[in-house]
Order: sequence, then C-alpha cells, then structure tokens
Amino acid sequence: MSTSTPYTRFQTTLHSVLKKINLERGDNALFDEPQFSHKKDLTITRDDGSKDTFHAFRIQYNNARGPFKGGIRFHEHADEDEVKALAALMAIKTAVVNIPFGGAKGGVQVNPKELSKKEVQQVARAYVQEFQENLGPDIDCPAPDVNTNPDIMAWMRDEYEKLTRSYSPAMITGKPLEFGGSKGRDTATARGGFFILQEMVDRLALDPSDMRVAIQGFGNAGAHMAKFLHNEGYIVVAVSDSQGGIYSPEGIDPVRIAKYKEKTGAVTGEYCEGSVCDIGRMKMDDVQKITNAELLELDCDILIPAALDNVITEDNAKRIKAQYILELANGPTTPEADAILEKNGVRVIPDVLANAGGVTASYFEWSQGRSGEQWTAKIVDERLKRVMLEGYKAVRREARREDMTYREAAFAVGIKRMMAAMKVRGWI
Ligand code: NAD
Repeated sequence: MSTSTPYTRFQTTLHSVLKKINLERGDNALFDEPQFSHKKDLTITRDDGSKDTFHAFRIQYNNARGPFKGGIRFHEHADEDEVKALAALMAIKTAVVNIPFGGAKGGVQVNPKELSKKEVQQVARAYVQEFQENLGPDIDCPAPDVNTNPDIMAWMRDEYEKLTRSYSPAMITGKPLEFGGSKGRDTATARGGFFILQEMVDRLALDPSDMRVAIQGFGNAGAHMAKFLHNEGYIVVAVSDSQGGIYSPEGIDPVRIAKYKEKTGAVTGEYCEGSVCDIGRMKMDDVQKITNAELLELDCDILIPAALDNVITEDNAKRIKAQYILELANGPTTPEADAILEKNGVRVIPDVLANAGGVTASYFEWSQGRSGEQWTAKIVDERLKRVMLEGYKAVRREARREDMTYREAAFAVGIKRMMAAMKVRGWI
C-alpha cells in the first residue's frame, strides 16, 4: 500500500521532469514549495446560536505568469497537503494552456451538506474576510471547486466588494450569469477535454463510431462529456457516480441517464432502486450494473476518469484495457500507475491539459469582468477550442522532441513557461 500523498505524487512527477529537462542546479528549489501558504480559522454562528470553527487554506504556488488562480473546495478532508498539490497543478495547467495566470487553490475543512444555506453563506463570507488582503483581480482570483458553486462565488464577490468598497467582478470566477458570470463556463471543462479528444481521434484517423468510452463520474465534468461524445457518435458504454455505474456494450444514452439521475439521484436510477434492480429490463436493454472499480477495467477504447483523484493506481493499472485515458478529474493517476500505463502503450492525456477548459473559461470570465464586455456562447466556444488545441499542440511537440509521456511533456511545457517568466522578472 503506497503512503504517498497528493503533494508527494505531484513532486514525484515534478522531480522526474526537472531531471529530464536539465534545470540549472538550484533552480529545482523554485518549484518545491508554494510561494505563500495562508492558513486561517473561520468561525460562524450556527442557526441554533452555537459557534463553529473550520480550518481554511489559501495556498499560492506561483504567480510568475500572472495573478494566482484556482478554486476553493469545501470538504471535510480538504487538508493543506491536498490543497498544496492542487495549487501546484493549477500553476502547471495555466502555463500549459498559456493563459496569463499563476496557480493557487483554497480549501475549507467543512462538510457543507451538514450546514444550512445560511451557514454556508457565512463560511463563504468568512473566507473572504480572513483572506481578503491576499485576494483580488490582480492578486489572486478564486473559482468554484468541489462543493462550491456560483451562489458561493456571488457571496464571496459581494463580501469582497463590501470590504474593499470597490466594483470587482474580476476578483472571482464561476459566478452566476446574472452577476458577472460567463456563458459557457458550466460546460467548459468537458468541452475543452472533448476538443482535445476529437483532435486526437482525427489525427489518428480513428472513427468515433468505433470508439467505446467509459466515464467515471457523472457530475459537471463527466455528464457534459458523455453528452458531447454521444452527440458526436462515440459509443458511451459505461457511466458511474458515487453509487456505482451501468455498462452496456451497445452504448447508453447519456441524456436519458441524466434525466433518471435527476429524478432518482443515481445513474443506475433507470433500472435500480437502491440495490434492487429490474433484471428483466436490464437484460432487454443489454445493460449491467457495475462497480466503479469494474468501470476502470472495462473493455473499452477510451477511459475518462471524471470523479476522484488517486483511482488509477499500481494495483489496477495493469488491468486497464483502454488504449487512451483522458483525465478530466484532477490527479486520478498515481506516478506508479503512469509507469505501468506507459509500458503497456496506453496514451494518457493528463489532467493539467485535459481539464484545463474550466480555468480557460474562467480566464474569459475574468477578461469580461475587466473589460465590461459580454461574449456570446459562440465566441467562448471558438476561443476555448483555440486555446485548448494550442496547449495540446505544445504538449505533443514537447513529447515528440524530448521522448516524454504527455504528462511529462505537459509538466515540461508548464515549468519552462514559468521559468521564462521568472527569468525576465529577475527572480532567477
Ligand atoms: P461534481 O461534484 O459535479 O461530480 C462528481 C461526480 O463524481 C459525481 O457524479 C459523483 O457522484 C461522482 N463520484 C463521487 N464519488 C465517487 C466515487 N467514489 N466513485 C465514482 N464516482 C464518484 O464534480 P465535477 O466538477 O464534475 O469534478 C469532477 C472532477 O473533475 C474533480 O476531480 C474535479 O477536480 C475535476 N475538475 C472539474 C472542473 C470543473 O470545472 N467542474 C475543472 C477541472 C477539474
């Protein structure tokens, strides 16, 4: 059993890439720790009048290329190590797609599902009160992440504007459309990953209608991806959520699944109520219930982890049958698994490229917040495609030139771009 943590996993990849790109001695240290780690305690008054305090973090990894940028997650297990790893990945990601930001991440150790809406709002406002001097459109610009949403972004913007007595729509992204949000932000992560997958399939002269895809996670990233692929003729053979998944070799209709998930809370909802399933109907539709572990090892062409980190490990990597993995989730593959996948010829499009559509649309929202413009959905889509394909091209080129995996190449592109900015700033 590996004792690695999210940050040590990040460092394993980082160090192997730093070695390959032959940085000058001493420069390695630039990437070992974040520039700033801010920690505060947030105290709120519960609806029953009692007080509760939650640990909160804002980790700012690197801002050589522009203001820090990265989401805030509300999760009882969000600890400093995890937030630090996510901040570092953000810095690589913004550099890979070449948008003018650095990397940061925030977290509050809280389970928002145990709080009322009023209490969640207090947590959001307290976060901004505590970290206010480290936030701002030109300093550090947060966004939604696990368990945070446009409403929370709106409360945070409101709190920031009150405290600074300013109009600052660009201090945060992922806002509601009626309060400075951007069209296309909700689908951007999946859309960005879709553009890359489609480009890869075109370049390899593969036929989408022959491509069987399994998707783990049916939330914002996974469900939109399933729909984009289905509409383009790919065969989505399996989807799952936290309660398990369904598999059909003939392909499933993600729109129908989404409808049932909305009604029943589970992707299996069309066939099962809890653990009781309509076996007859499943047989008729050629559908089987599967576990999340089984989904990862299915006989398919493309595997898309779009839920949790650390799911493709040295334990299951050798049994993965997909030829291509597109990481919509952050950190789904461990370094040990990466080595096995590489040996087996599985091409991995890494998270720092594959899911960069979300932060790219955040950049568009930030730009619109600063200029006062409102872009159409068509403009957002066109610009997103251009940015994602440029990032993909840079990674492909680096991988070919340096004989690296796509993850190594993405890290190399990101590190080199950060180094270039640090050099001209005179930091090194
Ligand atoms: P979400 O909360 O909308 O959806 C998560 C999905 O994962 C849900 O369907 C949930 O049921 C499922 N899930 C939870 N636990 C699971 C388990 N144990 N096994 C299988 N499935 C499980 O989240 P999201 O926004 O779609 O994010 C998913 C992943 O994509 C995360 O790793 C996130 O960091 C990454 N990501 C998302 C965005 C974005 O813009 N949404 C951007 C970049 C990266």
